[in-house]
Amino acid sequence: MLWGVAVLAATCVAQDALIHAGHLIDPGSNTVAQHQSILVRAGKIAAIGENLRAPAGVQVIELSDSWVLPGLGDAHQHITMDFPSASAKGSVWEGLRLNQSTAERTLRGIRNAGALLVAGFTMIRDVGNAAEYADTEVRRAIERGWFPGPTMLNAGKIITPFGGQDPGTAPERGRWWHDEYIDADTAEQIRAAVRRNIYYGATVIKLAADSNAYHFSEEQVRAAVDEAHRAGLTVAVHVYGGEAARNVILGGVDSVEHGYELTDELLDLMKQKGTYMVATEMSAQNAMMLFGDIGMDAKTFHERSLQRLQRAYRHGVKMAFGTDASLDLTDSTRANQILQQAETWQEAGLPPQFILKCMTVNVADLMGVRKSRGAIRAGLAADIIATAANPLENIAALQKVNFVMKDGKVVRDSRATVRH
Ligand SMILES: [Zn+2]
Repeated sequence: MLWGVAVLAATCVAQDALIHAGHLIDPGSNTVAQHQSILVRAGKIAAIGENLRAPAGVQVIELSDSWVLPGLGDAHQHITMDFPSASAKGSVWEGLRLNQSTAERTLRGIRNAGALLVAGFTMIRDVGNAAEYADTEVRRAIERGWFPGPTMLNAGKIITPFGGQDPGTAPERGRWWHDEYIDADTAEQIRAAVRRNIYYGATVIKLAADSNAYHFSEEQVRAAVDEAHRAGLTVAVHVYGGEAARNVILGGVDSVEHGYELTDELLDLMKQKGTYMVATEMSAQNAMMLFGDIGMDAKTFHERSLQRLQRAYRHGVKMAFGTDASLDLTDSTRANQILQQAETWQEAGLPPQFILKCMTVNVADLMGVRKSRGAIRAGLAADIIATAANPLENIAALQKVNFVMKDGKVVRDSRATVRH
């Protein structure tokens, strides 16, 4: 299993290293350089060149046969959530909201963060559904070095019009969605909700715009964006399409999440406004597991997803890779589910180099960390992964990442010959 081959020591210190990279991929510029060496000092990339020599005391890492690239990102994760599969007892919402404590969510988040890191994911944006701010605790634990994990943004509670994303709760049950959502029905309430999230440690703001028959107005969206941007946070919005999506795009958000029903006209509007699409396309298998018990036709959903992805690509909409993969399964890790979704992009006919760009530099850009991560370049953090096969030929090569360095620390090395 994954944990067996991983070296996961949160306390291990970054050691200066010289990595010999056989094929060095730069997804941002869509170039591959052969036989490059990367000098890593104090967790950062100090230099890249053809004939770099290892200074005394520096560890040499041989990846001469490998494809070396920047760490991957998932811009739409829920690492503290196990969205119950069709086999779960009770309804999905009961399983999710009633049976899982915030403590359980926190522990799950730490477990998933570690598993994602050793699979090659060095950046994630967690977009809510974390009970009482379990996501904040996971992020802080990683930042303190208590546990290994990716660089992370977290959204805290999702801000919605009255009712969260659970329409139809019986009146006598009360507002049981409040452990994951903040009701906000006016611009002022939205501003207050943004502030409350920031207070409790959110580092990105998430809205869900169209989970009920009513939705946010453009003015209300603008209030969220204004309040968040003034505090230095970006805004991600769950929305499928229609008038709600128009309000979200015109309101100036940073990313549309899902957007399954975006028309060509709305895609054009996103292109004009520079809005990111985080498409959360699912493999047919994942869609079946996720929606199989809530009445959606997984096959139709998958096919519509592929078609929408092609349209967005043709329209030149900015895209960052994000999956919504939220299941903890016994026979497949969450990282495997994520990487299957990358294959869905390939199935839609998008070129691997474009997919890699969306998985690296574009996620870093959307997360606001592009100046420090998302590429292998001097001055940036040493977040470096390697594969045996060429991911530019087949994106599925990413399913066999065999080397992961995060901030200069080797957190996985299942192939390299290391000499001192
Ligand atoms: Zn989601």
